Amino acid sequence: MHILVTGGAGYIGSHATRMLLDLGYQVTVIDNLSTGYKDAVDKRATFYEEDIHHTENLTTILRKEQIDVVIHFAAFSLVGESMTKPLKYYENNVSGTASLLKSMVDAQVKNIVFSSTAAVYGDQKVMPITEEILPNPTNTYGATKLAMEEMMKWTSIAHNINYVSLRYFNVAGAHHSSEIGESHNPETHLIPIILQVPLKERDAISIFGTDYDTFDGTCIRDYIHIEDLIDAHIKAMIYLVNGGKSDVFNLGSGSGYSVRQIIEAAEFVTNQTIKTKEEAKRAGDPAKLIASSDKAKNILKWEVKHPKVEDIISSAWAFHQSHKGGFSQ
Ligand code: UDP
Repeated sequence: MHILVTGGAGYIGSHATRMLLDLGYQVTVIDNLSTGYKDAVDKRATFYEEDIHHTENLTTILRKEQIDVVIHFAAFSLVGESMTKPLKYYENNVSGTASLLKSMVDAQVKNIVFSSTAAVYGDQKVMPITEEILPNPTNTYGATKLAMEEMMKWTSIAHNINYVSLRYFNVAGAHHSSEIGESHNPETHLIPIILQVPLKERDAISIFGTDYDTFDGTCIRDYIHIEDLIDAHIKAMIYLVNGGKSDVFNLGSGSGYSVRQIIEAAEFVTNQTIKTKEEAKRAGDPAKLIASSDKAKNILKWEVKHPKVEDIISSAWAFHQSHKGGFSQ
């Protein structure tokens, strides 16, 4: 089976590429390298430096490589930036996905696994969050991912394309080889930023908001190991190829950890004291996000193999120690 990974030079796409290849699948990667790193792309994959907006080029690649399934990661994903540059997000995420779907229709590729987000849910009262809860994004990033999901739905009805949309909670950690991991520039995600302190790349970690309605006043999130996340994509892909119907699934570990708890866990893993400073809340941050992933467990037969945050942080720590400053472009 031949899989096209869009955004395969990014954090999540590079792990998908690596794990698919390790399982013996054929993989073609397209990435415009706007935020990804060529060094992160497994050399065994066929690589095209290409933009998902170039519909005709995509159609040519899909036909030439005889692609069976697309796994679509190419998107901008910074919540803060999405609030100040909303049109950049609509243009890249929504228009880019329209172009990709058009090329799939043209080349008659029938299956797509799509990278969505818990940000589609916004601020919810009832935890854990199930897929039945009505989405209500509180930031542009989540709104564009929801628009992309809707686009998949209507396209699947009109053109008989099957999709699985995976709503990720907080993805973290690195591949067990430590050869690939999370490397964004600028970095905005909590775990890699915390690790910059023991790496001596940052003086202190800022805690954004300490008066949330949570047990210690800091935001609670559900952290999922990158390898568990990719495992779910592979199961979703197999599900679609075997005739599974289009659907949406949450992916999380099912436990919530506060920002302070994550800092404590990082202190334990790195065996260092991590200096903190309390700062104002970040715009668009919901207080608490915890997933119910029962649907993915029941239908995709997926299971969480790395539920402990210490294990997630320790894999990230191993990667960052061996890639100080991240990948080179
Ligand atoms: N956060 C923080 N300091 C940082 C980065 C993040 O306190 O330097 C908090 C952020 O406000 C959120 C949580 O950590 O409550 C997780 O943020 P992240 O950006 O990693 O993921 P998000 O939940 O926004 O997708």
